[in-house]
Amino acid sequence: VKARGGNGYALHTPELAVQAQERLRLETALRGALDAGEFQLHYQPQLDLASGRLFGVEALLRWQHPEFGHIPPQRFIPLAEETGLIVPIGDWVIARACRDLADWGAQGIAPPRVAVNLSARQFAQPQLFARVKALLEASGLPPGRLEVEITESLLMQDPEATVATLRAFVELGVSVSIDDFGTGYSSLSYLRRFPIHTLKIDRSFVIELGHDASDAAIVSAIIAMAHRLGLQVIAEGVETAAQRDFLAAEGCDAIQGYWLARPMPAAACAEWMRGHDAQ
Ligand code: C2E
Ligand code: CA
Ligand code: CA
Ligand code: CA
Repeated sequence: VKARGGNGYALHTPELAVQAQERLRLETALRGALDAGEFQLHYQPQLDLASGRLFGVEALLRWQHPEFGHIPPQRFIPLAEETGLIVPIGDWVIARACRDLADWGAQGIAPPRVAVNLSARQFAQPQLFARVKALLEASGLPPGRLEVEITESLLMQDPEATVATLRAFVELGVSVSIDDFGTGYSSLSYLRRFPIHTLKIDRSFVIELGHDASDAAIVSAIIAMAHRLGLQVIAEGVETAAQRDFLAAEGCDAIQGYWLARPMPAAACAEWMRGHDAQ
C-alpha cells in the first residue's frame, strides 16, 4: 500500500500490522477448529433458590488450540461473529448440548434445562429454527429442556424477524432468556413485545451487591419488575454467600456463579449434579 503521508502513516504502524497479522492467524485457526475437534462445551450449574434444587445448566464454549493454548470466548466469539463462523460453530454447540443432555439422561441425570447462547448472526439465518428443531428431534430431547439465551441488542437489530423466530421457538416449547440484562441500550418496551421467559441479571450488577447501594436498588428493581411481568430472574456471577443471601431475600428465582460452581466439562458436571441431587 502506498503511503499517503501525514496521518495516512497511522494505518501502517508496526503495532497495527502485528495486530492484523495476529487476527489473521487467529481467524485461520478458527476456520480449522471445528474439523480439528478443538472445541469443547463446559457446563455451569444454576441453583433454584426457593427449592435448593438444580434450576438448569448453561453451556459455555471452550477452545483449546494446540499451539495457542486456551483461547477465551471473549477473544474468539467476536471474530466468529464477524466472519460468520459462529453459524457452523453454533450448530455444533446446540448439537453437542443436546447429545450431552441425552447422555446424562441415560445415566439418570436430568437437569430441568440446558441454556445455550445464540448470537445475532445465528438469528440472521432463516434456517436457524428448522435446524434447532431437527437437532432436538435427532437427540430425542423434549424441546422444553432447551433454553436459548439472547441479548437485548439482538432484539433491537431486526425486531420483526427476531420476534417471528422467537415465537416459533416458544411454540415448539423452547424457552427464551435475555442475557446480560441491564447492559444493553434498549428500551424496556421489548419486554412486552417479545416472548421471553427469563431475565439474566448481568454480573456487573451482582459484583457490587453489599458495597454499592445503587446496584442493590437496580437488582431489586429488576427482580420486582420481572415478576410483575411474569418472568423468571437468574442472577449471574454470584461469587459470595452474601450476594446469594441478598438475592434470596429479594426473591430472585435462581443463581449462577463461582459461589455455586465454575463451568466444567460434561463428565464433571454430571458428577456435580449427581452429588447435588443426593443432598
Ligand atoms: P455469558 O453468556 O454472559 O456467560 C457467563 C460468563 O461468565 C462465562 O464466561 C462464565 O464462565 C462467567 N462466569 C460465570 N460465573 C462467574 C462468576 O461467578 N464470576 C466471574 N468472574 N465469571 C463468571 P465465558 O465462559 O468466558 O464466556 C464469555 C462469553 O462468551 C459468554 O458470556 C457468552 O457471551 C460468550 N459465549 C460463550 N459460549 C458461547 C457460545 O456457545 N455461543 C455464543 N454465541 N457465545 C458464547
Ligand atoms: Ca449466557
Ligand atoms: Ca451473561
Ligand atoms: Ca456476559
